[in-house]
Amino acid sequence: MIQHATISDMRRWREEQRHAGRRVGFVPTMGHLHEGHLSLVDRSRDLADATVLSVFVNPTQFGPGEDFDRYPRDLERDRGLAERRGVDCLFVPSVSEMYPRAASVALDPGSLGAHLCGPLRPGHFAGVMLVVLKLLHIVEPDIAVFGRKDAQQAIILGRMVDDLNLEVQLDVAPTVRESDGLALSSRNAYLTPDERRAAAAIPRALDAGHRAYREGATEPETVVAAVRRELENEQLMRVEYIDAVDPETLAPARRVQDRTVLVLAARVGATRLIDNVVLGEGTASDVFLDG
Ligand code: AMP
Repeated sequence: MIQHATISDMRRWREEQRHAGRRVGFVPTMGHLHEGHLSLVDRSRDLADATVLSVFVNPTQFGPGEDFDRYPRDLERDRGLAERRGVDCLFVPSVSEMYPRAASVALDPGSLGAHLCGPLRPGHFAGVMLVVLKLLHIVEPDIAVFGRKDAQQAIILGRMVDDLNLEVQLDVAPTVRESDGLALSSRNAYLTPDERRAAAAIPRALDAGHRAYREGATEPETVVAAVRRELENEQLMRVEYIDAVDPETLAPARRVQDRTVLVLAARVGATRLIDNVVLGEGTASDVFLDG
């Protein structure tokens, strides 16, 4: 596995792949790798001939008072995990390499940013779009793989690729979960043992909503109430939103149907966690790790 820290070295490597006729797959991450990230690497390796994984904690997607400074970072560990999983090129640019000065151009997610995490994290998706667009221009991958765990992000980026005619195919991979259902996230590292136990109520609650749908509920309020009920007694949990949304517009669904996305954000202690389930698919489409 080769490691590059500069944009020019990264581009040179990319050119070599082009000359060799290799399709390049790309997995952008903020590091502190876990099995969710590594499942995206597997996916990239299935779809492409060479895989780039980037590790970059992107300051422009964190708001003031968010966890940019304390976001977990461990490059040596990430290097080992990436190499063992078959990553060909690790791209680890510094903040000054990516942002030699503050960007003047800004991207706007439009109406897709008006829902869910958008209003709660002002500027977040603009920051994600900026860094992903820059990375896509630097790496010029044939395929880029994102996780469905961050559903709003994947939908916004899909729309950005479409609207801007980017020549990359996006692939959105299933959520990887612990054996009790909690979606893997770098931020799970912040949870105390009590909070970790409380966090398991999130996937249980989404399951309860899914069950309500399978049992015939078509009103969003009914499904959302089933989710909320499951979280009512969790003292350590503060729900930010629970919603049933349209998979294309992210607007609240008028009726719940197959492909409606049931989304949830909650704080467990000080840690903000998000999760979702696509209705009709069954959680069987997600990947569960063995206990
Ligand atoms: P992050 O490092 O949190 O920015 O995530 C990098 C990529 O990994 C994003 O596309 C995420 O959606 C994806 N990802 C994060 N957690 C998971 C998970 N549990 N399962 C699958 N993909 C994930």
